[in-house]
Amino acid sequence: MFLPNSFIDALADYESAYYVIFGVPFDNTSSYRAGSRWAPDAMRQASANFESYNPTFGIDLVDLPIYDAGNLETSALVDETLQNLYEATKGLLKDGKLPIMLGGEHSLTFAMVKACAEFAGEDFGVLVLDAHFDLREEYRGFKQNHACVSRNILNQVTTNLVSIGIRSGPEEEWVFARENNLKYYTADDVESLGMVEVLKEALEWLDCSQLYLSLDMDAIDPAYAPGLGTPEPFGLNARDVRTAVRTLAPFSMGFDIVEIAPEYDSGQTAMLGAKIMREFIASHAKSCRKP
Ligand code: MN
Ligand code: MN
Repeated sequence: MFLPNSFIDALADYESAYYVIFGVPFDNTSSYRAGSRWAPDAMRQASANFESYNPTFGIDLVDLPIYDAGNLETSALVDETLQNLYEATKGLLKDGKLPIMLGGEHSLTFAMVKACAEFAGEDFGVLVLDAHFDLREEYRGFKQNHACVSRNILNQVTTNLVSIGIRSGPEEEWVFARENNLKYYTADDVESLGMVEVLKEALEWLDCSQLYLSLDMDAIDPAYAPGLGTPEPFGLNARDVRTAVRTLAPFSMGFDIVEIAPEYDSGQTAMLGAKIMREFIASHAKSCRKP
């Protein structure tokens, strides 16, 4: 039997699809350990493990218009890769699709957010799940380093941004966040307030109907997700992140999962990422259906 190199249950063709999944195997600015370029294919492989039926939402993924577009061609240069991704995302939005990008590193999110913001107009916000602020102005000579993505979004796209799961950054980033009234919740905030309350507050604060959702997998505790570029202990638990993705999916016009580095574990982080992506699609599809 031949197994397709594609997400399981992604059975639609491009024309009829609404959910378009694609990989961007790019990790050239990764600061600690690279390897997220292998994540899209590792997640495709891991997806073969799952049943197509989602019992929580009462939805069978084989019935949904899902298409796997494969991997975007990348350049060694971050700016060129971001430009390609930006143009590809604009094309998907123009065609009426919901883009789901699998990184690759977090710098890629900037191109997705820029394309989505231009498409959405004023009624737009960004929610990032991450252990890190990513507020550096530049890092290792790159303004488009993965450690700068939130700063670039704030400077160049929108200040309507909330970060959840934060627990790491140099002092300057914490000062910058406070001085600029950045809305963020630490992983400890989530522990004490509860994810449901945090999401309620975040959505009220963002006050938009078109959301871009970015999941930097290191938001999750490395006990659940050890295959990461920059693991940071005392993170969110996998169940809380699933709650976040399920809750936010109905508002989302674009989604990404980034920073999985499959070489550093036995497959569990790619498996978790693939599962979370399927929860995103099922929750979004459920919200679009009439009861
Ligand atoms: Mn990040
Ligand atoms: Mn991070």
